Amino acid sequence: MHKGIPSEAREAIKAFGKSVVVKGPKDVLMPSTEISPLNDLEVLKDGFRCIHSNCNGYLCGTLKGMQQHCQKTHGWVKKDGTMWRPQALQTFFKGNK
Ligand SMILES: [Zn+2]
Repeated sequence: MHKGIPSEAREAIKAFGKSVVVKGPKDVLMPSTEISPLNDLEVLKDGFRCIHSNCNGYLCGTLKGMQQHCQKTHGWVKKDGTMWRPQALQTFFKGNK
């Protein structure tokens, strides 16, 4: 499909793809510590980290997504105030993943 990429490069990409095990969003653990950003992966500077005591540190790129996580997972309601903090993050996934 990507005719602009030389066939040798496409074949190398296909071979690499077959050589790795790719996990889905639900199988990827949230990091427990902050690490240096990975090269060539966009940094979302306006993300959030859940700081609820019973949470594994859920990360999210949008406020709406974090509110939904806290509501669904921790029974959060707006009058509770925030149970998250700002956090720059990176993700391989799009949307709410
Ligand atoms: Zn949480």
